[in-house]
Amino acid sequence: MEMLKTEKLKKIYGKGETEVQALKGVDLTVAKGEFLAIVGTSGSGKSTLLHIIGGLDTPTSGTVTVDDKKINQLADEELTIFRRRSIGFVFQKFNLISMLTVQENIILPIKLDGQKVDMEYVGQIIKMLGLESKTNSFPNTLSGGQQQRVAIARALAAKPAVILADEPTGNLDSQTSQDVIGLLKITAKQFTQTIIMITHNEEIAQLADRIIRIEDGQIVRSTKKDWGDSNGEGRE
Ligand code: ADP
Ligand code: MG
Repeated sequence: MEMLKTEKLKKIYGKGETEVQALKGVDLTVAKGEFLAIVGTSGSGKSTLLHIIGGLDTPTSGTVTVDDKKINQLADEELTIFRRRSIGFVFQKFNLISMLTVQENIILPIKLDGQKVDMEYVGQIIKMLGLESKTNSFPNTLSGGQQQRVAIARALAAKPAVILADEPTGNLDSQTSQDVIGLLKITAKQFTQTIIMITHNEEIAQLADRIIRIEDGQIVRSTKKDWGDSNGEGRE
């Protein structure tokens, strides 16, 4: 089943001499529950694509459809609600609030949205990400890997259909990166969440179901992983 689709997506920044064509017509379809990795050199348009998919930026032309909703037709307020409820963002910088505990950080977006917190679900995520002993700790007492796991838990807590991650392991060492993304992958599978992740890390990209390469604002290659089993549920 299709979760997300971009059609003829173009993004032009600036005008005249300073004009940059960041996206030159991107057609991308992502299935529900798929883990997609996006690779490509710096400046190729990866972040622009992710931001537009997540409704953080608007395309110059073309459409983005998420869960059968054309998000570029939404009014500002609807778009804000869509972002809060349907998308979980994970960035390279963890953006945790230092005055709040781990648990408070994780449930903050749900509270800001005025929703009731499903503590059982949040507890499950905390457990899966190995943060049980840290719920009452403050972010600055955690390692980088632990902080990124908190950021992932926060992104997952509102049960978003789609997780968008922009170089989420950029600040982590290789082993920690693998562990953190391995956990994200397991959690997302458990709850049939779709992951789109930009990464420079080849080993991390190999954890995805499909890798697309973007060059100069266009998808130039798409490689699907053959997990070697019939249900495509991973190779573990
Ligand atoms: P990547 O994430 O692959 O490194 P980006 O999507 O950030 O690439 O950028 C693609 C191109 O668009 C680059 O040439 C970049 O300089 C340009 N760009 C990105 N954001 C802006 C912006 N806000 N204003 C002008 N140019 C931008
Ligand atoms: Mg980028």
